[in-house]
Order: sequence, then structure tokens, then C-alpha cells
Amino acid sequence: MKWSILIARPFGVEVRLHLTFLLLLAFFGWRGWDASGGSLRGALSSVAFQSMIFGCVLLHEFGHVLMARHFGIRTRDVTLLPIGGVARMDSTGETPRQELLIALAGPAVNVVIAALAFGWLLLAPVVQGSFDLALLRGPAPLALMVVNVFLVVFNLIPAFPMDGGRVLRAILSWRGNRVWATRVAATVGKGLALVMAGVVLLGMGGIIPFQQPLLLFIALFVWIGASQEADAVATTSVLHGVSVRDTMMREFRVAAPFDSLRDLSEWLLAGYQQDFPVVAQGEIIGIVSRADLLRGLSGGGPDTLVRDVMREDFTVASPFEPIEAVLRRTQAGEGAATAIPVVEGGILVGLVTAENVGEYVMVTAALKGVRGGRV
Ligand SMILES: [Zn+2]
Repeated sequence: MKWSILIARPFGVEVRLHLTFLLLLAFFGWRGWDASGGSLRGALSSVAFQSMIFGCVLLHEFGHVLMARHFGIRTRDVTLLPIGGVARMDSTGETPRQELLIALAGPAVNVVIAALAFGWLLLAPVVQGSFDLALLRGPAPLALMVVNVFLVVFNLIPAFPMDGGRVLRAILSWRGNRVWATRVAATVGKGLALVMAGVVLLGMGGIIPFQQPLLLFIALFVWIGASQEADAVATTSVLHGVSVRDTMMREFRVAAPFDSLRDLSEWLLAGYQQDFPVVAQGEIIGIVSRADLLRGLSGGGPDTLVRDVMREDFTVASPFEPIEAVLRRTQAGEGAATAIPVVEGGILVGLVTAENVGEYVMVTAALKGVRGGRV
């Protein structure tokens, strides 16, 4: 994600902070300073309150991340945005049961924090009034409890993109159709977004104890999230059960180790492809990505040989593998090739590229539309 900085790597998962998030903290600092008549304490307590909320959001995300890891699902990174946290996972769960447990693990963390805060309030009345947090004029454990109860309630609204939407989909798809279940959860999400926006725009927002522009913003966020989820599932349902062989690119250019980068740049410009597999004596020995080609050209000029810039560590696929599994296994590393060579009995038979798979999805969806089916 652009405009974000890496702040930590707990459990090997990158945690990033979006720069707009720092603006939000500065804004709350200013508001706290202003509201308290210009005291530093007021500013700091406002920033502390906001940081505490996002600490709880981060722990919530790690609830999802660790449950997903329990099922062998990798998380690429977690980004904190002003609207909340986003964990990019390879999958939201392979079965309805996994999806249900991963979705519930986030709010479960907030239930635990709220319960601990409640215990703290009961057992240590001494702390009451000792360090008030702005915005919520009460002691810290009370603020912590209220924030976490809010996070549980908000996230369990049964609509995409909230966790509650995933819970709803998992339950609806327990015995069958995941695409239908997603469509229902997405429709509920869009309906909710419309109701929220309508309430604000008709000036009836007073009935909800929330800041009106923020509510409108959340409505937009819910609408976009619900649409994206519906699209993503439509795509995966087309690809479900499809093998690499059906979606791979069969016509492409192959480079030899002693070809020059001049040849490759001509092919690139002619629009053949972006990544070139390198073949010697019938066997694939490397791959040159567009980034490798450009680096080679600027470093050694057009006469540089392919074998000097090609990378030898790359992933390959078999023609009979499910395409879903291969798409999840993209090439790692900076400037790596986006294409995955398909090899059968040591011989290069195809290339898997995101564009080609995307075209397959479009063609299949269009054909199904003609026959009156649903994607
Ligand atoms: Zn969540």
C-alpha cells in the first residue's frame, strides 16, 4: 500500500501505518488542545485516547491473523487506516467453518479486552478519576471498556465488509452456495449503507449518537467494501475447479541465455509479454522480468546477455494444478516476474499471467451470461 510506513513485524507480519493516520492523530491532538483551553495535557490525553483505540483495532486484526495462521493461511500485512485496520490475507478461510472462526477471532479479542477492563474497574476503584481521557470523560479502564464494546458491536453488524458479513456468509454457505451467500451478505451491506446515507442526508442523523460526516464516510466505506467482495467472489467462483492448462498463455516468446537484451527490449516493445522465460536445451533455466530487463539495460547496455540478468529462483506450476492455488503463489521479491512458467515433464508448455487469467474470467462470465446462468 502506498503512503504507508512499516512500524513493526510481530509474528513475521508487517504492520504498516498509513500516513493519513498520522494526520488524524495530529488533528485529535489539536482538538484536545483546543477543547481544554490550550493545555498540553488536554492534547496528550486526546492523542492517547485515539492511540488506545487503534491499539485495540490492531489487536483485533491480530485475532484474525493468528486464527488464519492456525489454519495455514498466510497474512501479507496489516495496515492501520483512519477508518480501521485492514489485514491482507491469502484467503478468508477455505471452508465455512474456517471463515466463521477467523471472522469471530477479531471481535473475540475485543470481548476479552472489554472483560479485562471491566474487571479492572470492579477490582481497583482507586484508579477511578486518576487519569481521565478526553472525549470520554471517565477513567481509562471505563474508556477502554466502552471502546471495545463499540468495536464488537460495530464489527458484528451482519453486512460486508464488516466481520459480521463474513459470519453471515459462513453460516449461509455452510451447506452450499458461497456465491449466493456472498451476494446476500453484500446486498445487506449495500442496503445498510443506503439507509445510513439516507438517515444523514434527510437530517434525521440526530437519532444516531455519531458525528454525521463520519457516518456518511462509513456508509461509503461499507458500500465499496460490499461491492468489492461480491466481485471477488464472482471471480473465484469462475476459477473454482479450473486447472492451469485451461487458463495458461500458450503463445509467447522464449529467450535463450545468449540472446542480447536488445532482442528482449524489441519483443517487450512489440507487446509480446512482460516476462521472458529462458530456455536452454529444451529446459527452462531462468526468467527475465521487465524490471530485470530495464536494470540490465541501464547497467550494461543493449549488448548485455540474457544469462547475466536472468533470475534462477522462480516458481513453476504444473498444467494440472488448480489455477486458484497457483495464483496464490505469486513470485516473491522486488521486481520479480509476474508470470509463472508452466512445466510438464521438464518442458515449458505455458505461462500463467494475471492478465490471461483475467481474460479467461471475463470470457467465461460473458458466456454464462448468454446462457442465462449466474456467475
Ligand atoms: Zn475484524
